[in-house]
Amino acid sequence: MTCSEFLAELDDLIDNSVTPTLRADLELHLRECEHCVITLNTTRKTIEIYRQHELYELPTALRERLQAAILAKCKRGC
Ligand SMILES: [Zn+2]
Repeated sequence: MTCSEFLAELDDLIDNSVTPTLRADLELHLRECEHCVITLNTTRKTIEIYRQHELYELPTALRERLQAAILAKCKRGC
């Protein structure tokens, strides 16, 4: 699994709507990729904050900025 593939499944992982097989693949990637661990934690925290304010949907621009930033780091680091 690449970082792009991981990020594509990130929302479903946080929502627990991935299949057990996919979850195993995602967790395998997390063991190998510190950048995606950080992205997962950051995104999860951000979503929790939004949920507390009853604004569940992340603004698309924010989500895209977050993912672009992490992908830029992964190009150097992964
Ligand atoms: Zn990654």
